[in-house]
Amino acid sequence: MGLHLNLALICFLTVKIVASETIPEDYRLPDLYDPMFYQIQIVITQEAFTEASNEFTGQIQSFFTLKNETESISLHAHHDFIKINRIQLNGDEVASDNYNVDNVTDILTINTALLEAGSIGILLIEYTGVLSTSDNYGFYKSSYIDDDGNTKYLATTFFSPVYARRAFPCFDEPALKATFDFIFTFPSDLNILFNTDYFYSETNTTSGLKTISFNTTPRMSTFLLAFVLSDFTCTTGVPAASVPLEVCSRNATVASRQLASEIGASLLESLSNYTGFSYNMAMQKLHQVAIPDFAANAMENWGLITYRETALLWDETESSNYYKQRVITVMAHELAHQWFGNLVTLYWWSAIFLKEGFATYFQYHTPHEVIPAWELDKQFVIEQQHSALLRDALENAHALHADVFTPAEITARFSTISYNKGACILRMVQHFMGEDHFKEGIQNYTATHEYASVEPDDVWVALSSSVLESVSYLPDDFTIVMENWITQPGYPVLYVSVNERTVTISQKRFLFSGEDTTSKWYVPISYSISLDPDKFGRTSPILWLTPDSDETFTLPVNCSWIILNNKQSAYYRVNYDDGLWDNIATALLSYNFDGITDLNRAQIVDDLFNLARASYVNYARVLDTLAFLTNDISYFSWYSAFSGFDFLLTRVGEDSFLGRSISATVLNSMFALYSSVPIAVLDEDDQIYTLKQVLAYSWACRLGSQDCIQQLQTLFSQYRSSGVRPNKNLRGIVYCNALRYTSDSSDWNFLWEAYTNSNDLATEQITILSALGCSRDEDILREYLSKSITDGSGIRTQDSLSVFSSVYTGSPKGIDVALDFLIENFEVIAARYTSMNSLGNLIRGIAERFTTESQVSKLRSFIETENLPEAFQVAANEALETANTNLIWLETFRDDLLQYYDNGGYRTVGVSFWILVIFVLLLSNS
Ligand SMILES: [Zn+2]
Repeated sequence: MGLHLNLALICFLTVKIVASETIPEDYRLPDLYDPMFYQIQIVITQEAFTEASNEFTGQIQSFFTLKNETESISLHAHHDFIKINRIQLNGDEVASDNYNVDNVTDILTINTALLEAGSIGILLIEYTGVLSTSDNYGFYKSSYIDDDGNTKYLATTFFSPVYARRAFPCFDEPALKATFDFIFTFPSDLNILFNTDYFYSETNTTSGLKTISFNTTPRMSTFLLAFVLSDFTCTTGVPAASVPLEVCSRNATVASRQLASEIGASLLESLSNYTGFSYNMAMQKLHQVAIPDFAANAMENWGLITYRETALLWDETESSNYYKQRVITVMAHELAHQWFGNLVTLYWWSAIFLKEGFATYFQYHTPHEVIPAWELDKQFVIEQQHSALLRDALENAHALHADVFTPAEITARFSTISYNKGACILRMVQHFMGEDHFKEGIQNYTATHEYASVEPDDVWVALSSSVLESVSYLPDDFTIVMENWITQPGYPVLYVSVNERTVTISQKRFLFSGEDTTSKWYVPISYSISLDPDKFGRTSPILWLTPDSDETFTLPVNCSWIILNNKQSAYYRVNYDDGLWDNIATALLSYNFDGITDLNRAQIVDDLFNLARASYVNYARVLDTLAFLTNDISYFSWYSAFSGFDFLLTRVGEDSFLGRSISATVLNSMFALYSSVPIAVLDEDDQIYTLKQVLAYSWACRLGSQDCIQQLQTLFSQYRSSGVRPNKNLRGIVYCNALRYTSDSSDWNFLWEAYTNSNDLATEQITILSALGCSRDEDILREYLSKSITDGSGIRTQDSLSVFSSVYTGSPKGIDVALDFLIENFEVIAARYTSMNSLGNLIRGIAERFTTESQVSKLRSFIETENLPEAFQVAANEALETANTNLIWLETFRDDLLQYYDNGGYRTVGVSFWILVIFVLLLSNS
């Protein structure tokens, strides 16, 4: 199908295209237009829903006001997808030599006689368009196999951030908002969904085409428009206030729509209440649609949210608690965008956190209000904050607000920094303001900026208006306090030292490598001390560290320890002097960890691993302090600990002597955790218990616990003999470990067969895909990778990266197999992964796990000898740099770690708990 598209494109190159020396600013439209209204008509016939054609025709009429006088009009039209047939400006025909499309910037420029400032422009463009079949962006074609084995095509859209210009010519920048009227003509046996409801429909029985006109949209950005033409069916959900909710998908998945249908209303109402702007003030309906081929988890199109199937469809008996949480949190994220991004929009892509930071914050906050037992407020810290702190410690981290121009730069900004760090900064603000003030500030924000566009300072001005009375607690003006968090990359590590009873706190930027002593921040500081009656409860700041000076204060008498950053509510790491670290380690070994809560234990674990990686403390300090984990069964402490051990094991190689020593010690220390979640006791109503059970068994088996391996192998054997799938929550770990430890290749084939037979259950398919790479048989892994790049194998292109990642994360052997396969099949892979971002992620993912010089050399010589695409070259060089840094890490720390583990590792009690557990199990079985 890629070929079909290429042929079609060659024909379209007859549009006059100019390519010139392009400077970054050329990608922006001049600040000339105030778009008001578009009327767009699209005609798409039956042929486009077959393999025969990908074409449609369109006509736009755009009405705009000119801010200044001009002799040319510029707007976007993607040269690969739009062939312009005719242009009229203010009723006058524009000759074809008076317009051109730049094939680099995709800007269509129309030359005209002088147009006055303040005048209204009316632009009419007729064009022929092409549906994309090579990627899932713009107006594109997706397909699925129905129950009778027939391929069914659908045409759908994904316009964020710069792809509306592939479907119709438009002023395709987020701040250039307008209202839209859409009229579609399409085959009458299909149905259509759009942002708004339709008001008129007519069928032409001769042509077999139906025409539908939709209600005018609210004033909105082009990237939030969407339409889906398909034979999907919908389930009516619980309505939210007066707004009807529908969940739609291919009909075979009807049973999996229930969760989304039921939960959507409560999330939407919670957000309406929180923002003080009821959803139905802007939109009168909400459709949520699962698309078989989809570029992201979901897209927040206003009133018509689209999802990957695994992010919306959930089967009560077949899909795990993990996916239930995923559906609900992704849905909350997209619903939050209806306010943060759709109603109030970022002025330009330089500040993506203005939508993604807010949506990621509410992704946890809103479901936490609806389902508090899931402890999503705490899950936020380990999932979002720890990964943000990790990414933001690299020298090439970008600031939350920094210029971008080209589509590639814009796309790259949909990053861990924009999402996770953006959310962390908002959470920090919420904690230092207090929840009530924050909520009131958010209501000011939506009320002030509804239907408009904002810059970062607009957020702080709106929030500060709710704290005028108590503003004295801030060390400076709100926007000044926030400025460095937004315009500087990175974050501070605070150094806490104590002399007698005087505590001194200083700051500098935390980096894994290099030095930065100039970046400083306003840091809100909360802390707990050993004598606090209410330890870790208070998150409003006790004091502020300013960019100008260190802070000092006096501890009470008999205070044995101090820990900064209650609930890890602010965005920084903490390092202590040796005496304080010793006291913290002792407290953690005391009864009930001396009151140090699980979230702050998780913080200490995460900080220690990363402080050691950056040489602030040595690994003996980390591993000795972590001795408390032997007594800890908290999901949160262990989630952090496993992330830290994953880094160590990946660096040293799991199969190395040191890797085996680390594995044995971790296994020993997780005995209490493992015993607290036996497989015999399943409790899917307890979310944290279930997540913990999967985490503990996944790690115990990976580390080589025979007890764990045997239990999961037994469950797999039962599956093979009975055909009844294992418990839905255990499936992922059962499948993976069965393949990891089997010598019978028919196990892999059995699971592959199960994959191909679960076409209507996306969560099962992705669970199996992630497990198939756990095999240690190199031939099987190669065959698996081949399937991922073979048309008709049953693996969708959107899932190919998951296949690769399951291979290179599945075992140390998988890293070499994936690298060799990538090198040997590069041309095919590059043609298939048309988005260079995916190729870049692929090579980064593999290289990140290199442990030997020979792996690095192989990649280097491949990069040097092959003529690689430029965008991939950049990613490949970055990957090489990371791999080199990792080897240097190994060189630097291997001896320390070897010495540590030679000396007996953890300060554990010296009994092999695993001998004990097997003994106990033997007794209980006898
Ligand atoms: Zn988002």
